[in-house]
This record gives sequence, C-alpha cells and structure tokens, in this order.
Amino acid sequence: MPRLKHKLNLRVVIMTITLTIMTGVVGMSAIASLNELKEDYQRVKDDHFDSLLEITQLKVQTNKILAATNNMFLATNDEDLEWENVYITDKANVVAETSEKYPNNLYSYQELLSLTMTLSSQSDVISAAMMKKITLFEQVLSDYKSIEQYRKETLEQGKIQTTLALDNVLLLFNPLLDTSSLETDSSAIEAIISPLKLTISTQAFEELSTLLIGPSSIAEDYQAYSAQLAVVDALKAEHKELTQSIITVMGDSALSAQKVFLTNLTKVEEKISIRESFLYLLLLTSLVVAIILITLQTNLLRKIGLIRQVIDAGDSQEQYRIAVKGSDDMSEMAKQVKGYIQTIQEKNKAISDNNKELQHLVTHDDLTNIYNRRYFEINMAQEHIRYLRYKEPYCLAMLNIDSFKLINERFGHNLGDKVILDFTLRVDNQMRQTDVFARLSGENFILLMPRTDQSNALILMERIRSEINAMPTVVNDRKIGFTVSIGLMQVQEIEELEDACKQMTFVQQALEEAKNTGRNKVCCYRNETLS
Ligand code: GH3
Ligand code: MG
Repeated sequence: MPRLKHKLNLRVVIMTITLTIMTGVVGMSAIASLNELKEDYQRVKDDHFDSLLEITQLKVQTNKILAATNNMFLATNDEDLEWENVYITDKANVVAETSEKYPNNLYSYQELLSLTMTLSSQSDVISAAMMKKITLFEQVLSDYKSIEQYRKETLEQGKIQTTLALDNVLLLFNPLLDTSSLETDSSAIEAIISPLKLTISTQAFEELSTLLIGPSSIAEDYQAYSAQLAVVDALKAEHKELTQSIITVMGDSALSAQKVFLTNLTKVEEKISIRESFLYLLLLTSLVVAIILITLQTNLLRKIGLIRQVIDAGDSQEQYRIAVKGSDDMSEMAKQVKGYIQTIQEKNKAISDNNKELQHLVTHDDLTNIYNRRYFEINMAQEHIRYLRYKEPYCLAMLNIDSFKLINERFGHNLGDKVILDFTLRVDNQMRQTDVFARLSGENFILLMPRTDQSNALILMERIRSEINAMPTVVNDRKIGFTVSIGLMQVQEIEELEDACKQMTFVQQALEEAKNTGRNKVCCYRNETLS
C-alpha cells in the first residue's frame, strides 16, 4: 500500500507539473496571438482606416466647395457671391489644415487635394467674373428701361415711326430674353433706325441715335455684357471640366482606399476566426477531458464510499443491509471486505462465547456450579482490603456436611454428589445476593458475608443449619437426611491484619469446634481459642 500511495503521489505531482506547463504554454501563446492580432488590426487601422477617414473628410469639403462654386454661377447679387466666396475660403482652410495634419497620405489624396485647392482658387476668378456680369447686366437693364421710357413718350407724342423702330430695338436688346441674339452690336441698331432719317425730324433722329448708339448707349453696354457672358461661359466650361476630374479622382480614391482597407480587414478577420476555432477546439477538448476525469473520479469515490460504508457499519449488523452491486474491482473489494467483516464478527462472537465459558469454568465449581476456591480467595482478599479501608465488618462461615463419608458409603458416590448439589441449592436460597458462596473441597463450603456483623450472620447460619436438619434431601424417592456443622467468625483485629488468609484459620477453628462438640451446630470463633 505505501508503495502504491508513493506511486500515486508521484503521478499526481507529474500530472500537475505537466498541466501547469501546458496551461502556461497555451496561455502565453494565446496572449502572444492576441497581441499579434491587435498589432495587425492597429496596422490596418493606421495605414488604411485613417486614410479612408481623411479622404472622406476631404471629399466632404470638396463637395461643399463644388456646391458653392456652382452656386456662384447662379448668383444674382454681390452679397450672394461674397457669402459663397467666404464659405469657400473657409472650407479651403479646413482642407489645408487636414492635409497638414496627415502628411503621409496614400492613394489619390494628393491629387484630389491639389484639384480641390485649384477649385477653391478658381472661386475668386468666378466671383470676379460673375460680379462683372451682374454689374453689366444691371447697366443693360437700365439702358433698356430708358429706351422703354423713351418709347412710351414717343407713343404719347404720336411719333409712331419712332415708336415702331424702338419696339424693334427693345426686341433685339431685351436682356431678360434668350441670349442667342446677344451678338447684336450698334450696326444692327443703325440698320433699324436709319430709315427714320426720312420720316422724322433731324433733331429727333439725332436724339434717338445718341440714346441708342452713342457712348454708354445700350448697344455698347450690351456688347460689354455679351463679352462678359462669354467669359463666364468659358469659366463654366473650365469649372465643369475640373468638376469632372474631381468626381473621377474622388471615386477612384475612395474606391481604392476602401478596397485595400477591406482586403486587409478580411485578412485580420480570417486570422482571428482560425485562431478562434482553435481556441474553441482547445476548450472543447479540455471540457471533454475534465468531464471524463470527473466521471471516473466520481465513480471511484462512489466505490470508496461503498467500502467506507461497509467498514463503518462493520461493528454493527448494518453491513448486511448494504447492497454491493456491480462486478468492477472496487465492488469486488467491497464484497470481500463485507465477507471479511462478517467472518471476523462470527469469530469474535465465538471467542466471546468461549471467553464467557472459560471465565465460568475458572470461577465456578464443576459439580455444584457455585463459585470455586480461586474465585472465593480473590473476593475474600478484596473484601478484606475494603475492610481495612472502611472498617466495615464482614463475616466468614465454613460449612461442612457431617459424616459425609457414611452417606457415600450408604447411598453410593453418585447420590452423595446429589446431596452436595441439593445442599448448595438450599444454602443458595437462604443467602443474600451480595454474599459469596463457594465450594472449597468435597463437602466443605465457605460463605463470605460482606458488611455483616456476627450477630446477624449467626441468625442466618442457624436458619441454614436447622433447615438442613429438618428437611432431608430426596433423591430417586429416597430420603437422605443429613446435618451440617458451621464455623462462624467476624473479621478479627489481629497484628497480621493485612493477611486475609490468617482470617481463614480462625473460621476453620470455629468449624473444628463445632465438629468436636457434637456436630449439627454453629460455633462462633472466640478469641480465647487462639490463646
Ligand atoms: P465429618 O463429620 O468429620 O466431616 O466426617 P466426614 O465423613 O464428613 O468427613 P471425612 O473427611 O472423613 O470424609 C469426607 C468424604 O467425602 C470423603 C470423600 O470420599 C467424600 N468426598 C469428597 N469429595 C466428594 C465428592 O465430590 N463426592 C462425593 N460423593 N463424595 C466426596
Ligand atoms: Mg464432613
């Protein structure tokens, strides 16, 4: 067993060390793996995600600038233009700041950035052109309104020829109408008004010419306005081209950034999921191993518990009730233990019975079944010790059947035995439970009466003697009468007080006196017999 225990302990230690090392290795590789994944993720994030974010921000700003520049082309007053210009400058500053913040940009960021900056710088030119266009437009409109006024006056004055000519001019130079005829110059007006030279007065014609063809006339203003429209159209075309390039670059840059970012993210994702599967497998394996070990151990514990139950119940009869089922090694062991305990119990019972019998044999007399000399002497010694300590007197009586030899001779040895037996029964009936009655030899008996003084003992002895004397023993329908002589004494205070055997000699002397003085009597020990 100790060797097995030693082996088991060693195995447990080795298992524990191995498991600890394995757990450590797995744990460390798991941490290393997690760190690697974190680094991968961080790299992807740093290299791609931030760029994607940047480019998205740049796109947003660029789109705002684009919208603002488009709005400029639709502006109808200086305030609008001013506002859009300030807005564009503001957005351009944001873009410039962002590009300073992230100097290492990837993909088409730089291209888009330069296009955006071009666009924002273009806004000044557009603004100036649009402002000039608006001013010229207002001038043309004012000229137009003057002609309208003049036409109204000629109509009221009844200058029909002039009114009609002015109608044609107004049709030609209406700035609110389609601008397709804006090529019109002063020669076109001259062609309209020259026929009037013949029909209207020279003064009226000159007045009309000054209004329509002279310096700062509608023809001149209209020409300037028309030229400005061409400038704006050219700017629009340029702006459109730039817008197209920006849209293309924006699309490309966003797409490429997203594509690379997603590809790299997928790689990290795949790496994580592979490692996750491995960890799940590890977890599952550990779980299965743990469940198997727990099941085996629980089963072992159950079996050990069974053996413990059998052993615990060993002292009682309980183990008989414990059902030992199964045919495994532990159940077999439990059955064996149960068998051993059962055998031991049976043997214990036999030994105990034997011991009781032996004890009886050692302390009792064969024939009469009352105590024997050995038992009496032990008791006597104890009683004497008690007397020495507590000074409570005890009495001794020696009883001897009178002339027993003759009974044997007359009735035979067997009947003699019966008389001895009957005698002991009759004495036994008379004495107290605390008294010790023993057969010393043959028909010689002794009675120890603890805590009894001589006068009381004498009464008892007399009663025994007279009862024996009065009633013969009946054996096989034959009456066998006999008598008994009794020597009695109370414990004596003598020099050799501690010697209990010495007391026996005194009672023997008393018996002898009874024998010598006629038998069938009780004689008490008297001190003078010693002298
Ligand atoms: P006394 O009155 O002086 O006592 O005379 P006694 O005959 O009784 O005494 P004695 O010592 O002369 O004889 C005792 C006899 O008892 C002798 C012996 O054979 C007999 N005896 C001793 N032991 C037994 C026994 O166990 N059974 C029977 N039947 N007789 C026994
Ligand atoms: Mg005798």
